[in-house]
Amino acid sequence: MQSSQTNLQAGFAKVDISPVIPDDWIDANGDYRYNPDDGDTYTDGNGNGEFDGVWLAGFHNSRPAQGILDPLWARAMVLDAGDVKMALVVIDMIGFGNDEVIASRKLILDTNPELDYVIISSTHVHSSPDLMGMWGPSEFERGVDPAYLDQVQKGIQEAVRLASASKKAAIFRFTENPTGLKSLVDDTRDPKVFDAGLKLMQVLDAENLETLGTIMNWGNHPETLWAQNIEVSSDFAHHWREMVENGIVEKDSTLIKGVGGVAIFLNGAIGGLMTTHPSMEVIDPYSNEKFQQQNLDKIVAQGRALAKVTLETLQDSSFHEVSKANLSIRAETIELKMDNKLFHLAAYLGIFDRGFTKWKHIRSEVSAWKLGPATFVHVPGELYPEILHGGIESPEGADYGIGPQEIPTIQSQIPGQFKFFAGMSNDMVGYIVPKSQWDVDPPFTYANEDRPYGEINSLGPETGPKIHSAVLKILKELK
Ligand SMILES: [Zn+2]
Repeated sequence: MQSSQTNLQAGFAKVDISPVIPDDWIDANGDYRYNPDDGDTYTDGNGNGEFDGVWLAGFHNSRPAQGILDPLWARAMVLDAGDVKMALVVIDMIGFGNDEVIASRKLILDTNPELDYVIISSTHVHSSPDLMGMWGPSEFERGVDPAYLDQVQKGIQEAVRLASASKKAAIFRFTENPTGLKSLVDDTRDPKVFDAGLKLMQVLDAENLETLGTIMNWGNHPETLWAQNIEVSSDFAHHWREMVENGIVEKDSTLIKGVGGVAIFLNGAIGGLMTTHPSMEVIDPYSNEKFQQQNLDKIVAQGRALAKVTLETLQDSSFHEVSKANLSIRAETIELKMDNKLFHLAAYLGIFDRGFTKWKHIRSEVSAWKLGPATFVHVPGELYPEILHGGIESPEGADYGIGPQEIPTIQSQIPGQFKFFAGMSNDMVGYIVPKSQWDVDPPFTYANEDRPYGEINSLGPETGPKIHSAVLKILKELK
């Protein structure tokens, strides 16, 4: 698909997709009713048992939500370049499988049949309800509530409908800040390669120059609240988006003005492993107060730091502005081999509910789109940043004893001046590990005594090379 040089239209919208936490989960003492040690059972959405609840995804099984700290959203942008039209939706979820993406697209096409392509990307937040199945009451029980999945799919559909209905002639501004956010993310596995540059696309109403929406692209796990948190939250993304929209306000004074519109956090390459670990301090950029304890104060400080850099970068006059541009899109269905034995087991037990294209193979998807000077690349999982930016190693102790396979870097093949990259898009397949760094068998890499973390949540060693070559192929076509 390729549009002619034309005036562009864009629309943005957000829809609250927070779950409802039933009151009767809490007993008279304020304690949580579900306690497996007391023999409590739970329901699977069919009304059986005492517990009809929300299992929080990420970290470990049996983490029941006790309340809502801040809302979860489906945030949508619709782009209309005349003959090519697309939607990008970002949801505050740990992941959204390709089957669910395809079901959502069918719903969206009922209300917006004019769209050529729809991308659904997850922020990968670790305080959202389980939509993948892995975080139920035990390893053997699926944690997805079908009624809630339905709510999320309708929320996505509604966000696209509202965004499309609000479309206006638009101007696009692109800018980036390569180093401003480095102190807010750590890499917990060697080699240390980050995707910590902030890339921004601000979309303005062409008539009055008001902000319609801002895409904020950065790579980090939204899990600053960590495992002991038992409230639904979109983590640092909530405060970041809120402050970019409405400004950073303290008591009666505005520290920095917001830009309005709908702010969308598009997560980047977060494998291998980008996180704000509990051992990390986050410094409030205004008070210089340090926060380490993983709680609300820490994500507010992180939101302030993210919003300050974002808003200051948007004020910088170095941005690139376009009102006329071509929009082109390439997407490809791919087949990924599932070597991971734990995933086989999960599929047998019904923990994973997804289609297999053939024995041990799943269907997934890569895509890319180019708008004027900017290109956006979307992959279906948590890419190790070295596959994007370079720095893949062949460490001693790695299982295959081979040189780097995923070369050249994806970054070097992305056309245009502004290179956006999003993981967890149109699917969620876990970690995408460079094959030459794959390490399950001892001796372990980097003189580690134990197996490094990552492979256990990856489809297998072939995923990295396969996704890398599929992305390079569509980028070549996009050029
Ligand atoms: Zn992750």
